[in-house]
Amino acid sequence: MDGRDAGIQNAAHLLSNALRGLALTGAGISAESGIPTFRGEGGLWRKYDPVKVASIEYFMADPSAYWSVSRERGGAALAARPNPGHRALAALEAAGRLTAVVTQNTDGLHQDSGSRDVIELHGSGRAVVCLDCGRREPRAEVQARLDVEMPPRCQSCGGGKLKPTVVLFGEPLPQPEISRAFELARHADVMLVVGTSLVVYPAAEIPLAAVRAGARLIVVNAEPTPFDGIAEVVIHGRAAEILPAVAARAVATGA
Ligand code: NAD
Ligand code: ZN
Repeated sequence: MDGRDAGIQNAAHLLSNALRGLALTGAGISAESGIPTFRGEGGLWRKYDPVKVASIEYFMADPSAYWSVSRERGGAALAARPNPGHRALAALEAAGRLTAVVTQNTDGLHQDSGSRDVIELHGSGRAVVCLDCGRREPRAEVQARLDVEMPPRCQSCGGGKLKPTVVLFGEPLPQPEISRAFELARHADVMLVVGTSLVVYPAAEIPLAAVRAGARLIVVNAEPTPFDGIAEVVIHGRAAEILPAVAARAVATGA
């Protein structure tokens, strides 16, 4: 048995006994659905300046900078489907081994894969809101008119500040979601962290809170993270390969 198999077995064992398991996910879990991560190999930040493209300050000054990037790559994100990693987390929740999934992602793929309790720390990329009149609209509809309208305009008031319902740089995180995530973390017995570089706070603080309160930590990530040293189980690999193996053992056999 190599180190990876041992890691899978140990993770399955911890989860099979979990009564209040909690997952925290980042962009890595959606990489295999074809949505690029921000950091790391092939990450978007090597291509775009995130401060310009995804900060509230720049957005307010010129929404078309944001929407031009969306015109180029937003269609792929909207068309993405959940992968076996998302489905494994949904299966663990259905089996009672996870109470919820806290995610930094805005792609909606956890919900699409069947996870019921999803806490979105950075909002949802599936909708836009008009900052002038407050009207909401599905993002797919805005996306469809980007080729003929830049920046896109509100269908109701004609305003030119349609903002995706995501948290941009410089915006506060939604307080109810943050509070609930920390509450669940403080009561978790197993904390499963997947596909996040764990360098963005306060999200990275969530597994710390869980560990401080006694949770056992599992990290699944393509590359090392700053938390590998305090984790009981660390598995370096692709989420879509590792998680189904972990869930199958944890759910079927009781590991
Ligand atoms: P990140 O891009 O900083 O880090 C992603 C991590 O995932 C990296 O450590 C990388 O090694 C790892 N990874 C890459 N492919 C993987 C795979 N197949 N399996 C397992 N791990 C893999 O992402 P982050 O830490 O989540 O934070 C950046 C912010 O970017 C988030 O807050 C999020 O809001 C936003 N974001 C969201 C999406 C999305 O919604 N899908 C995509 C890109 C960025
Ligand atoms: Zn409007």
